[in-house]
Amino acid sequence: MDREQMRYSRLANITKILNTKLELCEVLQRVTAAISEEIVQCSSVGVFLPQEDGTFKGYAGKPDNMNGETLDTQIIDPEIDLLAKELIDTKKTIYIPDTSKDKRPYPRAVEAFKIKSILALPILFEQDLFGLVFLFNYGTPMNLTDSEIQSVEAYVNMAAVAMRNANNLTQKENLIDQKQLLLNVTRDLSMCSSLEESLEKCFFYIEKILHSKNIAAHFLDPFEKTTIRLTKLSMNCDWTEVEWMKNLNNTSKDKNYTDMIQEVTKTKKIIHLPSFDLKGLLMIPLVSMGKVLGVIAVVHLGGEAPNYEDSQIQLLQSIVDATAPTFSNLLYMDQLESMVKERTRELASANEMVTSVIESITDGFFTLNKDWEFTYINEHQYLPQGKKANDVLGINMWEIFMENVGMDIYRELHRSMSQRITVNFEMLSPYNNNWYEVVAYPFDDGICCLLKDITEKKEYEKELKRLSNLDLIGQMAAGISHEIRNPMTTVKGFLQLIKKEEDFEKHKDYLNIMIEELDRANSIITEFLSMGNTRTSDLKMLDLNEVIHDIIPLIEVDASNQNKFIEFHTQDIPKLFLNRNEIRQLLINLYRNGLEAMCAGKALSISTYKEDENTVVLAVQDQGVGIQPEVLEKLGTPFYTTKDNGTGLGLGICYAIAARHNANIEIQTGSKGTTFIVKFKIR
Ligand code: ADP
Ligand code: MG
Repeated sequence: MDREQMRYSRLANITKILNTKLELCEVLQRVTAAISEEIVQCSSVGVFLPQEDGTFKGYAGKPDNMNGETLDTQIIDPEIDLLAKELIDTKKTIYIPDTSKDKRPYPRAVEAFKIKSILALPILFEQDLFGLVFLFNYGTPMNLTDSEIQSVEAYVNMAAVAMRNANNLTQKENLIDQKQLLLNVTRDLSMCSSLEESLEKCFFYIEKILHSKNIAAHFLDPFEKTTIRLTKLSMNCDWTEVEWMKNLNNTSKDKNYTDMIQEVTKTKKIIHLPSFDLKGLLMIPLVSMGKVLGVIAVVHLGGEAPNYEDSQIQLLQSIVDATAPTFSNLLYMDQLESMVKERTRELASANEMVTSVIESITDGFFTLNKDWEFTYINEHQYLPQGKKANDVLGINMWEIFMENVGMDIYRELHRSMSQRITVNFEMLSPYNNNWYEVVAYPFDDGICCLLKDITEKKEYEKELKRLSNLDLIGQMAAGISHEIRNPMTTVKGFLQLIKKEEDFEKHKDYLNIMIEELDRANSIITEFLSMGNTRTSDLKMLDLNEVIHDIIPLIEVDASNQNKFIEFHTQDIPKLFLNRNEIRQLLINLYRNGLEAMCAGKALSISTYKEDENTVVLAVQDQGVGIQPEVLEKLGTPFYTTKDNGTGLGLGICYAIAARHNANIEIQTGSKGTTFIVKFKIR
């Protein structure tokens, strides 16, 4: 009874330990101790736990050492141990009272440990086999009763519960670890901002689980969606991208690496080849919302290829699954980004085209916002002080063109800006003295202005005006000359009549002079008439220098009378079509003006030279006072003179002669003197 009570209390104790202590080895140690001391009084109890290779290995029990062998070195192999095999197969307790009459116990063990009788029990929990228990007495039989065997079974069941609990616990711990890992993966991924970064994270966790540092990500081209590209290799990978593809495609004869990637993409199923040409190969599809984005491949290099456990692969799949949505988002972002880039490029090139169109306008062009700030300015727009477009963008126009404030352009542009109308006007720029035709158009953000340089057109118009003036002279001259010639003819007739009278014989000489003077006046009128004639005069091939030489004496006398000097610089020039008298007249008019502009002691220079292939120049340069702009404006206007006794016809005649010779006259003037430059074209 006592013993029975003790047994129960011990059982209760063990139950308590089972519920509080979780250390499996300790629990099993207590169970075996209880069995051997309380129930059976045997010398050996051994608990054997299953190994991966199918054998069972000593784990807990007594004695610690038997015949020099410790428990944990003892292995039971059911392949050769018939008793163990039967125990596993039947999952039932086997008691062999006399080993000499039974073939099942392993003979070597029976011999070595002097086993006379043996009790073998399975550790079972709901048909799950957790281990095996063996009981025997060294050298003597145990002689067990059925109730003793049942008691032992009860204790072994305790052990089963303990193992089950321990198992559950490690499973739970593993599960918690895995869940935590997945949480970490998700958290880490959520912090990734680029595809690159998220792949690195994914690789990091794969390496952590599989202990393999050779990982590659292959992605489907996001645009055409058929090509799979090697997108990224893990940081510590042994191969470069080229090596990766080359080596893996070369390894296997029957299965090509690239084909396998395609296969995974199509089937969305993992490929795991532990023996892929001596390299463990694992391929996991990256699937997001039912669509395959790519494939992650892990290769084990060197050493024996690992045989990954199902749980490892499952965890890996979970990680990849967790990564997939992040990839999908990032890929989408990448796509968006490249679309934005593409659009930006398109916009930029469209903009470039517009700009190149505007820049091809060779007139000045600029735009102003409503605050009068330059928003665009092309390279042909004149800017003061050598400023460039970039210097004035964003700056108020009237700060740059201060001198225009209050002028026509100021008023007109304000009119365009405030009334939203197109304005068109001409202006003389105070900056470069050029004439501009300005058009300003309003647009949403302000106004745009086009400035066309019309300085040349203005010159041309002036020239036209001069020519029409010449016509006027011609008409006037024709009219006046009639009115003058008629009375002169009358006067001449009367003079000739009087000359014949004897009373006037003594005045004959005077009368002759009067008639000659009238003739001279008449010829002057004829010449004057020629001034208004813009038609080509009678031209001959002549040497301009010769024409000049003929009148040098005349010019020299004129100059020395006024105490002024004359210099001639004639160079070799080709012959020109000239009218001798007219050129002489032109030269006389010019040199006289020159002399008249100079004070005594100054020198006048007359020169000829060939300016270029087509041009011969006659230049008359004085050291006079120069010509004021307001006078310059009016030069050539008939009867315009600044001299008290001037006629104002000299230059008019010069312009007419030049026009008939298809030549033009340019004037350079300043405080040091004036040069009249007559340019003849060589035909
Ligand atoms: P005129 O000599 O009779 O005045 P022109 O037609 O020859 O008439 O000249 C017109 C005006 O042009 C002159 O009055 C003078 O003011 C100006 N002018 C012409 N040539 C010169 C010169 N070389 N230097 C200064 N002023 C000149
Ligand atoms: Mg003159």
